[in-house]
Amino acid sequence: MDKRAPWVITLLLVTTAYTTQVFGNTSLKIIASFTVIEDLVKRVAGNNISIKTVVPAGEDVHRWELTPPNVLAIEEADIVFFNGHGLEPWMRHVEAMAHDSLTLTALAENADYKPLPILTGQYKGNPNPHMWMDPKGAAAYVEVIAKTLSEHYPEHAAAFNARATGAIEDLTLLDQQLSERLEGIPQTNRLLFTSEAGMSYFARAYDFEEASIWGLNHETLGSAQAMESMSQRLVDNRPQALFYESTVPFIHMDALAREVGVPLKGPLYVDTLSATDGPAYNYPAMLRHNVEQLHEGLGGARAE
Ligand SMILES: [Zn+2]
Repeated sequence: MDKRAPWVITLLLVTTAYTTQVFGNTSLKIIASFTVIEDLVKRVAGNNISIKTVVPAGEDVHRWELTPPNVLAIEEADIVFFNGHGLEPWMRHVEAMAHDSLTLTALAENADYKPLPILTGQYKGNPNPHMWMDPKGAAAYVEVIAKTLSEHYPEHAAAFNARATGAIEDLTLLDQQLSERLEGIPQTNRLLFTSEAGMSYFARAYDFEEASIWGLNHETLGSAQAMESMSQRLVDNRPQALFYESTVPFIHMDALAREVGVPLKGPLYVDTLSATDGPAYNYPAMLRHNVEQLHEGLGGARAE
């Protein structure tokens, strides 16, 4: 007796009727929950894998709903790398349909990296899932990716570990470069106000004070109470600029910016990379783009 939910079985029957192999002829069949994790997994796994990403570039990882192609890919996969700490509410459906040999690895929950709590909204007090926004958090993800891949494909372990070491060196260098670039922003201007609490780890890493209207994008966005609370905070703090993110409705931050007479900047990329021809085409480009937005909005010294 198949223990999976009837809707999963129905979806599988429908989808397998017209599609055969999702991954093609490769031995390493991996799923990433969203584009940032896809980028990090590729850095470790190299070219000898087939990777499918559940949430495409530009879409909000929080609010996704599984599609038939997602379901088919998960059926064929060996490993699903996801973030965890509640970033992907739709993972409960993946867990419900998972076959016995499918490994589900929550990178944030297994990373050797100190979590921060969410400070506002319906999920206040829960661990903030956006650890990848600090390159040190991303490096901790890379270690979990290398360990998981090595356990599954021990014949490739040396290559995975060598690539992971290189990726962590690159992330360390990126961290230094971002830090140097941000030095131009005066301490008094280091107020980073966004719609969602996606920049908490970035703020901790680079010494910004941060605040957000809501905690996570899958809660009620911009309730009257949350808007009032942020409005009061803006009156008290008068930041140089407000920022919106690429996957959130623009209207809430725009209304607050107009109300208090502060410029609105963005988008910042947090919950997705951009398309390959956009400014956040990979993980380092995403952080560099965000840093330039902050530099422009918060009065950093001009580049030579
Ligand atoms: Zn988010």
